[in-house]
Amino acid sequence: MTDGQDVRDNTITADVALAGGGLANGLIAWRLAQVRPDLKILIVEAGQTLGGNHTWSFHETDVTPDQHDWMAPFIVHRWNNQQVSFPERQRRLETGYRSITSERFDEVLRSAPNISVITGTPVDWLSNDVIGLTDERRIEAPLVIDGRGYYPSPHLQLGWQKFLGQHVRLEKPHGLDAPVIMDADIPQEGGYRFIYLLPFTDTEVLIEDTYYADDDALDTDALRRRIATYAQNRGWQIAEVIREEDGILPITLGGDIEAYWRDYVEAPPSGLRAALFHPVTGYSLPDAVRVADLIAAQPSLRSNDIVDAMRSYAIESWHSQRFYRLLNRMLFWAAKPTERYKVLQRFYGLSPRLIERFYAGQNTLGDKIRILAGKPPVPIHRALPCLAGRHPDGISPVTERA
Ligand SMILES: Cc1cc2nc3c(=O)[nH]c(=O)nc-3n(C[C@H](O)[C@H](O)[C@H](O)COP(=O)(O)OP(=O)(O)OC[C@H]3O[C@@H](n4cnc5c(N)ncnc54)[C@H](O)[C@@H]3O)c2cc1C
Repeated sequence: MTDGQDVRDNTITADVALAGGGLANGLIAWRLAQVRPDLKILIVEAGQTLGGNHTWSFHETDVTPDQHDWMAPFIVHRWNNQQVSFPERQRRLETGYRSITSERFDEVLRSAPNISVITGTPVDWLSNDVIGLTDERRIEAPLVIDGRGYYPSPHLQLGWQKFLGQHVRLEKPHGLDAPVIMDADIPQEGGYRFIYLLPFTDTEVLIEDTYYADDDALDTDALRRRIATYAQNRGWQIAEVIREEDGILPITLGGDIEAYWRDYVEAPPSGLRAALFHPVTGYSLPDAVRVADLIAAQPSLRSNDIVDAMRSYAIESWHSQRFYRLLNRMLFWAAKPTERYKVLQRFYGLSPRLIERFYAGQNTLGDKIRILAGKPPVPIHRALPCLAGRHPDGISPVTERA
């Protein structure tokens, strides 16, 4: 479908061509469409719909009030509170939580008059001003953005957050009145393990079994069995599994962001492809929202100018996140897999505002001191090398650049 585009000799022209119709590019398209209604924006997506198969959630305090306003059409679920549960800590926080579904994402983007969408057609190759499709069509645009998802690189040292979630309908009401961001009061297997719960209606809930693990293998059958056991232990009888989603998200332990960007030269990247995600949670929505605003505010919408703006944003954000990579090293390297939960259990004893700033990736120096103060929840002889950027067992040296 190419409504609103100029098509000649298999060549389509647009003002902005977005390769990949996932979260980052979709939000860029939406924000540009609002701020610059004169532009012809084209999204090309390999899948049949935009946004794949996700429930994207975020904390109310991850984005500004203005950003809430422009994102409002995408929001499907809203809660005013959230809770966490650990073996030695239960806590309820008065921080709102929001969710977007892929279905709504697709629907909203397709409703914008100046956004055109081509789905079911993979991008074969791209450059700063052309996208070549596998069906031989070409798209020419002064601004091309590559949002085709995670790009593996030797310049990033990673751990993994992997999960499988089932949106289920229960026989009877579940009794939850707020999302459970982490229920880690469960057997700790395969790394830091917790269940994440989003109560959509009285009887419908997303149950997600999540692991902070050293490897990226996902045993989906084992996770389905564990979700069934978890539901049973809570006295929930599953009547129907409505849908399923899974993910393996990168968590950064160290790396060299300048080298990462030097390697990536085809066109300005966005989202995971630009290494723009929260180092500890692997979540990318807050950055995707900020980048959409950043691009929409640029005076020149040409690839060469946007790549400069994106590179500066990504490198600055990487450096400001150094502390989070240190926390990850403590989590992955200092703590035994079965004891990793203690790092988060202790963290959740801190002030609600500090926790909110943590998820937004905006902790202050004072917050960082508070997070590290006191007796560490991991053995001190293993924590100290992590602070200095060394693995306690002398492996995996970190390549952090100052
Ligand atoms: C199941 C799941 C749930 C998640 N939940 C959250 C959450 O709650 N909150 C949060 O902040 N983060 C969440 N994340 C993490 C992260 O925000 C998402 O992975 C997010 O979708 C990344 O955005 P992106 O735009 O970089 O990539 P994607 O959204 O993955 O978009 C990339 C798109 O490019 C398309 N593509 C790839 N190759 C081609 C090609 N050759 N041609 C055309 N199109 C192509 C893909 O089909 C895809 O649609 C979740 C991740 C997963 C997997």
